[in-house]
Amino acid sequence: MEYFNIISNQRNFFNSNASKELSFRKAQLIKLRTLLKSNEKRLYEAIDADFKKGEFETYATELGLLYTDIAEALKKMRHWSRTKRVRTNLPNLPARSYIIPEPYGVCLVIGAWNYPYQLSIAPVVAVLAAGNTVILKPSELSANTSALMAELINSNFAPEVFHVVEGGVTETTALLEQKFDKIFFTGSVPVGNIVYQAAAKNLTPVTLELGGKSPAFVFADTHLKVTAKRIVWGKFLNAGQTCIAPDYVLVENKIKDGFLKAVKSQIEQFRYSFDNKNYVQIINERNFQRLTALIDKEKVFCGGESDEQTRFISPTVLSNVDFNHLSMQDEIFGPILPVIGFDNLETVVAEVKNRSKPLACYVFTRSKLVRRKILHAISFGGGAANDTIMHISNSRLPFGGVGHSGTGSYHGEAGFRTFSHYKSVLQKPFRFEPNLKYPPYTEGKKKWIKRFLK
Ligand code: NAD
Repeated sequence: MEYFNIISNQRNFFNSNASKELSFRKAQLIKLRTLLKSNEKRLYEAIDADFKKGEFETYATELGLLYTDIAEALKKMRHWSRTKRVRTNLPNLPARSYIIPEPYGVCLVIGAWNYPYQLSIAPVVAVLAAGNTVILKPSELSANTSALMAELINSNFAPEVFHVVEGGVTETTALLEQKFDKIFFTGSVPVGNIVYQAAAKNLTPVTLELGGKSPAFVFADTHLKVTAKRIVWGKFLNAGQTCIAPDYVLVENKIKDGFLKAVKSQIEQFRYSFDNKNYVQIINERNFQRLTALIDKEKVFCGGESDEQTRFISPTVLSNVDFNHLSMQDEIFGPILPVIGFDNLETVVAEVKNRSKPLACYVFTRSKLVRRKILHAISFGGGAANDTIMHISNSRLPFGGVGHSGTGSYHGEAGFRTFSHYKSVLQKPFRFEPNLKYPPYTEGKKKWIKRFLK
């Protein structure tokens, strides 16, 4: 079987230790960067064909982030992979203690379609920086970008180092039957569950980057205009098909009307339209149908237009909805923003906590107390105070979920750590050999042991 050969060749190559050399890792990353840069035009064309994503957004949210990831890895890889000395505890003296980061081996990266380059290649940057080999399986839903990545990567990288396998459920299921040393998955919660169970059969460590309903809290003391601008941008970027998009807004009732007006005005100012490059398409017919079914005409505050032919859904705001509304049952993952008013913070916090832990959470307030209250009370993957989305762009902040929104994290050094095992070593000299721990055990030895170990 094709996969079996590639995986076993990758394992043989990994066992030769060649991928662990720093010079080798650097060469792979430089090759990857050159490949992306010299094919930018084709990368833009493919993503435009998949869901009409324009050059600006593709650079800002995909290629630009990959270039900075690669540059950071090239700069810091030596430091990240250094053996780290730690202090030795008293009973072990004299000795040295140290931790050696080592690559896991053969990795499998399964990507999602919504940021097809970024979500597929950013984990691979970390895989290669840490000295592993990798099979990448991009999403079949973004078929053009998947085919282009396969073509470029498979004709430029040795298959025993980095290889792309295209396909959907059948191909991924077949891959998951093989033994990997690390699996990194980005996608939905139900498929995350399948991946986790398949990995468990081989006790393979996994990182799961999943989704969920990420709330944005808006308090009366916020700066209304800036808040509306940052929420509208975060929500309608990629037409809401963003894992960390604010899924819904919880706004204090006393400013609800003003907030809704500010949101509407901001949507107008951003000039989202099917005819320009400010807005993208819904990825496929199935998602288009799923999303339009959530547009409850009676609750539409603005937007609500859709066109099946072009899979266009206008930025839509739903008001006067509550936690029982259809739009509040599952992750929306599209350009529909339910806005729920509240008077009592404790009640809405309890509602949020009754649901699965979100991937992101946003809080807009000038009050330190309120901000701390939300950050303290709610468990979530990561987020921002007075902004949306942007925490993902700081590579010093590990990116990942918690509970149903995922397990593990990546970006920057966190990515390197995700694809490394930290091997602990105690190194003793032959001189000095107290008999304390050796039989025959005596009362005197016991007394000493009790002094050391307490
Ligand atoms: P998905 O789970 O349908 O697909 C993800 C990957 O899994 C694809 O490569 C697909 O081919 C594969 N797959 C699908 N069904 C499978 C099956 N039965 N067995 C094995 N493999 C299977 O997700 P999607 O539609 O591509 O992405 C949307 C979801 O991903 C949303 O929930 C979103 O929040 C989440 N997401 C999370 C992040 C993150 O970083 N945490 C980023 C983007 C998207």
